[in-house]
Amino acid sequence: AAVGLLATGSMAACGDNSGSTDQAGSGGKTPKIGVILPDSKSSARWEGADRKFLEEAFKAAGVKYDIQNAQGDKTQFQTIADQMITNGVTALMIVNLDSGTGKAVLDKAKSQGVATIDYDRLTLGGSAQYYVSFDNVAVGKLQGEGLSRCLTDKGAKNPVVAYLNGSPTDNNATLFKNGYDSVLKPKFDSKDYTKGPDQSVPDWDNAQAATIFEQMLTSTKGKIDGVLAANDGLGNAAISVLKKNKLNGKVPVTGQDATPQGLQNILAGDQCMTVYKAIKEEAKAASDLAIAVAKGEKKDTGQTVKDPEGGRDVPAVLLTPKAIYKENVKDVVADGFVTKDELCTGAY
Ligand code: BGC
Repeated sequence: AAVGLLATGSMAACGDNSGSTDQAGSGGKTPKIGVILPDSKSSARWEGADRKFLEEAFKAAGVKYDIQNAQGDKTQFQTIADQMITNGVTALMIVNLDSGTGKAVLDKAKSQGVATIDYDRLTLGGSAQYYVSFDNVAVGKLQGEGLSRCLTDKGAKNPVVAYLNGSPTDNNATLFKNGYDSVLKPKFDSKDYTKGPDQSVPDWDNAQAATIFEQMLTSTKGKIDGVLAANDGLGNAAISVLKKNKLNGKVPVTGQDATPQGLQNILAGDQCMTVYKAIKEEAKAASDLAIAVAKGEKKDTGQTVKDPEGGRDVPAVLLTPKAIYKENVKDVVADGFVTKDELCTGAY
């Protein structure tokens, strides 16, 4: 919060909207929303887009909030949650680092009467009252279809496809894979495509992804024709290795998050596509729910998602992702998600 204070010179940056009217909930508590983001390395989205759009939504609603980032540290994640509960948050929104620690945090919050929301990632076996995300199987399908379209464009015959999957501890990574497998597996089975190396990247770590991809290229003697990378960071790691081998632009690579760097790679012809998820809408949906539950209200999301661990039906909001290729990169800018400047510098 202090950093935000220095950067903007305004108390509002700390989430202390003391000027706003108190909206005491049914329990007589003033709504205050705590958000814990996972890290700043697995994707540029968390600090680049989610923080901004969540702040925007909370400010527009005139509600108090505190957004913190666990920087990939599970102990820190729990410490932040404890502090937030002590400081009186009425709703806690988390992007878990894994389901185990996520569950511990959610259960504790619940036991203290704090409303809970899984933001973007479902905590398996957890107790969140709501889950707000995108249709993540659809995200994976767009990636599978995108890779297939780019391979066709390149005239690839029986291409070898390598997988750089997301973190094994992230349920979304499983859903993305289910999505792209549903498109690509039939092509492997019919022998139109050949299945190449298939590996998960722990914690979505981009540096490790480059090492893993380098090994994939070595083990296949350079015979990789397409890379299903689960997000833009992993895609960029593969592209950096392809560049060293003068293969960039020849081997299509997928992505996700429509990050400035991913979009730049697409415009340069090094990345085939990305998946744009309108985080502004995700943040708005989550903030609406958090404000409602913080006031002791219940909301009907009209949809549930089954938690595969425990079988609980979790009330959910699932938004629709969109595929971005070179020709519609401009849509992401037009939507106000990435500015022209960010596109030019390749960073938020
Ligand atoms: C999110 C992706 C993100 C990845 C790495 C996933 O849970 O849905 O948008 O790229 O985590 O942070």
